[in-house]
Amino acid sequence: MMNIILLGPPGAGKGTQAARLQAERGMIQLSTGDMLREAVAAGTPVGLEAKAVMERGELVSDAIVSALIGERLDAASTSGAIFDGFPRTQAQAEALDLLLNERGRSLDYVIELDVDEEALVERITGRFSCVKCGTGYHDRFKQPRVKGICDACGSTDFCRRPDDNEQTVRTRMAEYRAKTAPILPYYEQRRLVRHVDGMAPVDEVAAQVSVTLDGEA
Ligand code: ADP
Ligand code: AMP
Repeated sequence: MMNIILLGPPGAGKGTQAARLQAERGMIQLSTGDMLREAVAAGTPVGLEAKAVMERGELVSDAIVSALIGERLDAASTSGAIFDGFPRTQAQAEALDLLLNERGRSLDYVIELDVDEEALVERITGRFSCVKCGTGYHDRFKQPRVKGICDACGSTDFCRRPDDNEQTVRTRMAEYRAKTAPILPYYEQRRLVRHVDGMAPVDEVAAQVSVTLDGEA
């Protein structure tokens, strides 16, 4: 049972790879972005607080996202967890260690998806997903097999995230550089970091992630 972090800037492919690992290995994807979007849609107090921050592309408070992860962690106790979009700050990294320690668990790998930032704007502005089942697509890199129909569930309803516009993407990248990239040394000193080429096609990235998890398990 492994606990891994997928680390990389917005659009690096974390959600895409987490969904693959979930389908192929039965691990559980824990995406704070998805949890926050659910809270916004449901109009909970957390959602009300997070909405404007997310639309600006800034980071939601450490206390809120750490609590969300804490609530979901036990659901991923037997199958392994993929942390997607969390931690994003040093305080969150320390909170995660505490949450895992309390449960007698620890991190196995931090997989960094290495990407070229300029390519990410195209990845993010072309991203859309199925409203019904959440399967992710891309205008250029991953259209549904039949145009307008979700491969996974047959729905014809798709949506785009309000924060997936060029201006907000720039803020999100700046937040990544200022607050998230600096947590890498925290994991490097524990020899947990593995690098994967996030610019390769999706299947190849998935293969590299698999080799990392199997080769050293
Ligand atoms: P993140 O979760 O890191 O923000 P996503 O997994 O949502 O990123 O990927 C962003 C967009 O780029 C999606 O539309 C996805 O289909 C596409 N994408 C993901 N990985 C790749 C890849 N290796 N090559 C091309 N496009 C990709
Ligand atoms: P994501 O779906 O990972 O791209 O996240 C979308 C937005 O949700 C981010 O731009 C932040 O505003 C917020 N968010 C998601 N995860 C976190 C986190 N771990 N810490 C702070 N804010 C987060």
